[in-house]
Parts: sequence; C-alpha cells; structure tokens
Amino acid sequence: VRVLGIEGTAWAASAALYDGATDSVHIETEAYQPESGGLHPREAAEHMAEHLPKVAESVLERARNERDQPIDAVAFSRGPGLGPCLRLAGTTARALAQRLDVPLVGVNHMVAHLEIGRHLSGFSSPVCLNASGANAHILGYRNGRYRVLGETMDTGVGNAIDKFTRHVGWSHPGGPKVEEAAANGSYVDLPYVVKGMDFSFSGIMSAAKDAVDTDGQSGAPVEDVCHGLQENIFAMLTEVAERALSLTGSSELVLGGGVGQNQRLQSMLASMCEQRGADFFAPENRFLRDNAGMIAVLGAKMYAAGDTVAIDDSGIDSNFRPDEVPVTWRDDDET
Ligand code: ATP
Repeated sequence: VRVLGIEGTAWAASAALYDGATDSVHIETEAYQPESGGLHPREAAEHMAEHLPKVAESVLERARNERDQPIDAVAFSRGPGLGPCLRLAGTTARALAQRLDVPLVGVNHMVAHLEIGRHLSGFSSPVCLNASGANAHILGYRNGRYRVLGETMDTGVGNAIDKFTRHVGWSHPGGPKVEEAAANGSYVDLPYVVKGMDFSFSGIMSAAKDAVDTDGQSGAPVEDVCHGLQENIFAMLTEVAERALSLTGSSELVLGGGVGQNQRLQSMLASMCEQRGADFFAPENRFLRDNAGMIAVLGAKMYAAGDTVAIDDSGIDSNFRPDEVPVTWRDDDET
C-alpha cells in the first residue's frame, strides 16, 4: 500500500509518501515561522494555502517517478487544529483524491502522534504521552478506543513554554530555546500542579513570567527559570505517565508530539521506565514534531482496514478528540 499523507493542523504544511512494501516514509515540510509573537491563525492559513499544494505536488511527482499508479489513497489530518488551516488541508486532500481517483482517509492528528510511535517501536499496546504544542495527554487503548487517561486542564504544554519565551522576547518556537538555556541554569522553585491524572500548565507559565528578571533589576536569571520550568513541567508529565503505566498494567511507553523532541523530557521518561522495568520509545525528531509521515502511516493502516471516508462526509473537526475515533485497524485481541 502506498499512501499520500497531508498534514495541516497548525504550522507544518507537510506532505509525505508512505510505502508499505518497504515500510519507508518520505516527508516534505514547509514550516510557518511567525515574524513576531506566536502562531497567527490567519497567517498560518495563508502559509498553508501557499505551501500545501507545492509540497503535495512535489511528493506526488516523486511517487509518479517510481510507479505508473503512484498511490492507493490520500490521508489527511482532519483535526484537532486551527480551523482555517484544517480547511485548506481538507480541500487539498479532497482535490487530490478526486484527481487521482483514490479513496480518502480522515486521520485524527493526535492518534497519528501515538500510532507512529507504536508503528516504529513495534510495541503492541503502549501507553502514549502526547506532548505537543496545543495539547498534552496520556492515552491508553481499551475496547476499541484510545482512552484519554490524563490531560491538560488548561493550555497545551508547548503553548505554555512558547508564551513564556514570548514574554522574555524570544522568537517562536520557544521550546528549543528553553532547552538550550536550561542547560546552563540552576533550579528555581515554581508551581507543580498534578490533580489526579490531569495536569495544569497555566499557573507555572505565569509564575515563570513573574520570576524572570526582565528589567535587569529583580528576579532570577532566565537560564534558571528555564531550568525550573523544564524540571517541573517534565516531572509532571513523567509522574502521570508512570501512574498510567501502573493503572493499565502496560510495560510500554511511547512518546509523541513536538515537545517530545526535548532531551531532558526523554531522559526523565527513560529513567522512570527503566526503574519500573518498562520499555520506552521516542521516535526520531522528524516523526515527533508535526509531520505528514505519521498521517500517511496511520492512513495506510486505516485504508487497509477499509476505514475510508466519502468526500461529502469528510468535513474537518478542529476539536476532534482522540477518544472519538473508532479504532478499526487493530486486532480485537490487542487490548
Ligand atoms: P499539536 O500536535 O497539538 O497540533 P503543534 O501543532 O503545536 O501541536 P508540534 O510540532 O507537535 O505542533 O509541537 C510544537 C511545539 O513543540 C512548540 O510549542 C515548540 O515550542 C515545542 N518544541 C519544539 N522543540 C522543543 C524542544 N526541544 N523542547 C521543548 N519543546 C519543544
């Protein structure tokens, strides 16, 4: 099976080709980089309108050079994400499916973040921590659905970090800059909020803004605040991930999402798993941040299960939750 994937939920105008015969993924992405501030939905949509057709044509061209019948299906990110971006991704995917006369597959972006880790790791039934820009949740499979075992009560984890870096005047995205600065800092005490299986990031983000020395007069050095921010946020995620492993009895953890590129987060999760004798897998960075490769890979599984969608029913859903998706592509005995 060869599937063309289209991703356009927020910043990544991305297309990919997944070839099931060789299990290979080719990804092309044009990233939207705001000139100032965070992601502007209108600018992000303009970026999609300009770049999605180009990356899609380029990937398709490559597929055509390899075979006469280039692809079997077109898969696209149906949600969650920014409505104006999703609409453009949907339109691009529908037009391609019609032109190539192949079925369309509507993929949940958060389930794709999880499934790419399961696919690459070969784990059978892992718990998944999705740590991305607009989201943060822990998922586990039970009776035909991915259940949300824990999630953020307010902002997404990456968005919280990005809001802090905007406050100190750093350009978007802030995550990599916080990671770099934190390496040279020492711990500053900040709020740590886990309630049951859920976590909250808005309090720590505001406290970090207040703690930092922006006027040269008072407050802590920015490196120290970055260090404290990372330690607390990632410990919160690790604590809930550990509890999810314990509750489900699973001994496998996979990581997904752009914040998952952070080495400190990966090392905290790896040592927690090691201590409890669980296996941990983090995909390589190109599969962690938003990318069409994960859409194409899950699209291929859904297509093989007959889980396609008619063009008329293929509307986007900007609040599409992972537990709304009937999991059609797994064997029932995979609990
Ligand atoms: P979603 O999947 O929820 O739609 P998204 O569209 O924002 O999320 P992702 O690519 O999953 O996109 O994540 C982007 C986020 O990852 C940004 O908030 C960015 O700051 C953060 N990020 C990137 N690299 C790092 C890093 N090294 N450390 C921490 N955060 C990072």
